[in-house]
Amino acid sequence: MATATAAVTPDSKVTQYVAKQQKMLINGKWVDAQSGKTFPTYNPATGEVLSRVAEGDKADIDLAVKAARAAFETGPWSTMSASERGKLIWRLADALEKNAEEFAQLESLDNGKPLKVARAGDIPLSIDNFRYFAGWATKIEGNTIPLGLRQPGKFFAYTLREPVGVVGQIIPWNFPLLMAVWKLSPALAAGCTIVLKPAEQTPLTALRLGELITEVGFPDGVVNIVPGYGETAGAALAAHPDVDKVAFTGSTEVGKLIIKASVGNLKKVSLELGGKSPNVVLGDADIDATIPGAAAAIFYNQGQVCSAGSRLFIEKSIFDKVVDGVAQKAESIRVRQGFDPESDMGPLVSEEQMHRVLGYMEEGKKEGAKSLGGGERIGDKGYFVKPSVLVNTNPNMKVVKEEIFGPVVTAIPFSDPNELVTQANDSMYGLAAGIWTRDIKKAHALAAKLRAGTVWINCYNVFDAALPFGGYKQSGWGREMGHEALEHYTEVKSVCAAL
Ligand code: NAP
Ligand code: MG
Repeated sequence: MATATAAVTPDSKVTQYVAKQQKMLINGKWVDAQSGKTFPTYNPATGEVLSRVAEGDKADIDLAVKAARAAFETGPWSTMSASERGKLIWRLADALEKNAEEFAQLESLDNGKPLKVARAGDIPLSIDNFRYFAGWATKIEGNTIPLGLRQPGKFFAYTLREPVGVVGQIIPWNFPLLMAVWKLSPALAAGCTIVLKPAEQTPLTALRLGELITEVGFPDGVVNIVPGYGETAGAALAAHPDVDKVAFTGSTEVGKLIIKASVGNLKKVSLELGGKSPNVVLGDADIDATIPGAAAAIFYNQGQVCSAGSRLFIEKSIFDKVVDGVAQKAESIRVRQGFDPESDMGPLVSEEQMHRVLGYMEEGKKEGAKSLGGGERIGDKGYFVKPSVLVNTNPNMKVVKEEIFGPVVTAIPFSDPNELVTQANDSMYGLAAGIWTRDIKKAHALAAKLRAGTVWINCYNVFDAALPFGGYKQSGWGREMGHEALEHYTEVKSVCAAL
């Protein structure tokens, strides 16, 4: 049932925030779009307009980049000590923590996800990410390099790590605040300045974060936030000749457009793209842990997770048992609006996304896949879809090859472990993978063979600010989080002096 039982209502602070028309943050000021245009953001639980937001396009991006450039070259940020930068990032974490409930509610309203998920996941992970990178600000170092061809003592050579400059950041709607934070925190730690474009579906928490950014004392122009559409604001940012680097998370299709747009000034590019991640259950797995683990691997966040374990490979000997268990879990998931305390799964983010997922279900069935239940819309208000497990698939089906980005898993039996590796790696993507087994030796041997940026063993979707995340193959370029993330936001300068 999509209707709420005893739903809690948003706090008055949240109601007041969404009631006002949202502006954009440029050079420390909240301003309307140059064009005067606005666009709606919807509550996916009802399909109703939640808030109206300034619609940035090329003209606003130009102003934001100009502000970011000035802040980078000549603003107080350019001479601020690393310790001061770290302190500001830490203060931002504190401010977010103080307002955690408001952010969780705003995220649930704008994205649809259960409030309890935003409270337990999105917001604490965001706070922790800021704190982790606050600590890095003072630890970005170069090396001293002995020159191999030269006589010792004749030269003194060292490297410096300097901020890459003005950074454009384009983010998706599945974890709106967290994706903003993953991008902002390493860039700020490195000393870059930023123009951030949130997804059109979910701009609210990034904008509210902008208020905290100004409140805690970041200098004007260090972080600029320009909401708007991808084809206009996003494209202008990706192509901008005065942006030194662009960081993008979203679809592989748009990732390729970002690369094309970057060619003009050869800006640096990092990409966090789609996935079709294999989640492998070996015959000796602890079934009681595996079933809920495999269900959560795909159904968490309505299945709208780039690393979702969407291809579930199960060793034949236990296939029926595991698949029935996951199907039962799917059946028991309470799909409700996010503010319902009993909601395990909210609506999908948009009508478009709902039709995309329903389209895949239809196509899959047409191609011969069998649904063990679910996969249809619930009710006619909001974008609720019942989670589903598909069997009887083959590797050529769209539902097996393409990223659905919804609560649909394809379960695939295997008997030969070597064949399993080939099948699991048979994807244009390589973002993540899961392995369920009691044999730790087998687990590590398999982890080495899977072409994926992250491999989870007897767990899934475990994220940490310290653990790098990113993709092999067409799942992206580069890594977010961990000290690896700082590589994308710094340039290495070699300095060599004759003594
Ligand atoms: P998307 O189109 O790739 O959107 C991601 C971001 O890129 C948004 O901010 C979007 O703005 C912007 N954008 C779109 N076109 C652009 C362009 N030409 N130049 C610059 N920026 C542009 O993703 P989506 O349409 O929201 O979702 C489609 C599919 O992408 C999903 O079904 C899923 O497969 C995948 N996806 C992956 C992730 C991930 O974490 N890897 C996250 C979300 C989606 P607008 O929102 O305003 O268009
Ligand atoms: Mg889009």
